[in-house]
Amino acid sequence: MEKTDWEKTVDNLLREGILRSPSVIKAMLAVPRKRFLPEDQRAYSAMDTPLPIGFGQTISAPHMVAIMNEALRLEVGQKVLEVGAGSGWHSATIAEIIAPKDAPRSEWGHVYTVEIVQSLAEIARKNIMNEGYGDRVTITYGDGSKGYPAKAPFDRVLVTAAAPRVPQPLVDQLKPEGIMLIPVGSVLLFQNLVKITKDSSGALKEENLGGVAFVPLTGEHGHKF
Ligand code: SAM
Repeated sequence: MEKTDWEKTVDNLLREGILRSPSVIKAMLAVPRKRFLPEDQRAYSAMDTPLPIGFGQTISAPHMVAIMNEALRLEVGQKVLEVGAGSGWHSATIAEIIAPKDAPRSEWGHVYTVEIVQSLAEIARKNIMNEGYGDRVTITYGDGSKGYPAKAPFDRVLVTAAAPRVPQPLVDQLKPEGIMLIPVGSVLLFQNLVKITKDSSGALKEENLGGVAFVPLTGEHGHKF
C-alpha cells in the first residue's frame, strides 16, 4: 500500500538517523502532525519545517520533536513538564511514550504542559481532548518559565521556546536522575539546545546538543520586549 505523506516524513527521519528508538518512532507514527494544525496549514503538515499556528507562534518541525524525544530518554511512567504547549502536538507524542495505551493504566506517566497564550492553551486543550489524550496530558494556561510547582518535581522537563538563560525554577523542579532540554540564546539567532542532567546527588551536568531556532520564551524568566 502507498505510504502516507506522514509515514514518508518519519521514514526520512529514520534514514537521517534522527529517529532511532522504537518507542519514539512508534509515537511519531501514532500522532500525525496534521491533526493538530489549523485548517489552512494542514496541506503542509508533512513538511519538515515549523508551521504557523496563530498568535505569532509555531508548531515545531518534526525533526526537532524527534531530536528532543530521543534526547529525553522517555520511559513509561515518567512525569513530564513541557513549557510551551502550542498546538498540543509535541505533548501527545510524549504521552504515547510515557503512557502508551498498551500499558496498564496504573503504570501510566503524565504530561503537564503550560502555555502562556490563553487562546492557544484553549486550542491545545481541544486538540488533546479530540485526539484522545485527555487522560494523559494536562494543559494549563500560565507562565511556564516559573515551572509548574503544583505537580513538581518532574522526571523530565522540556522547554519549546528559547530562553535568555536557564530558569532556576525549572532546574529546582527537576528530580534527581532527571533530564531537561531547553533552547538557550538570543531571540532570533544563536540559540543552543542545552541538555541538563541532574545526578542522584543533585549535581548538574550541561551539554550543548547544537544550534536551533525557536520562538522566544516570554514570562518572568523569559525575554523582555
Ligand atoms: N510544543 C508546541 C507544539 O507541539 O505545538 C510548539 C511550541 S511553540 C514552538 C512555543 C510555545 O511556547 C508558544 O506557543 C508560546 O506561546 C509558548 N511560550 C512562550 N513563553 C512561554 C511561557 N513563559 N510559558 C508558557 N508558554 C510559553
